[in-house]
Amino acid sequence: MRPEIPPSLDYDAIQTTDAYVLWEHRHEPGRRAITCRRCQRTSHHPQDVQARFCGCCGHWHDDPDGATDAPLGGRACPHGGVP
Ligand SMILES: [Zn+2]
Ligand SMILES: [Zn+2]
Repeated sequence: MRPEIPPSLDYDAIQTTDAYVLWEHRHEPGRRAITCRRCQRTSHHPQDVQARFCGCCGHWHDDPDGATDAPLGGRACPHGGVP
């Protein structure tokens, strides 16, 4: 597992779980990003942040066993995430 990498140096990790890292912009509270620890992709999309969702894996992080993962339509996550 690679160490989590902030989206930029202006972001601080405010929550870290086995599934994701939540970041907040140091100078703009409320501006957040989320990094999927399954595939290491970072999303700045507010809805992904809010829902704790990785659009790349189709994975909701609050569902550890992935039972509700969105179908990827045969497309695999290009970052090595488990489909
Ligand atoms: Zn992912
Ligand atoms: Zn991915």
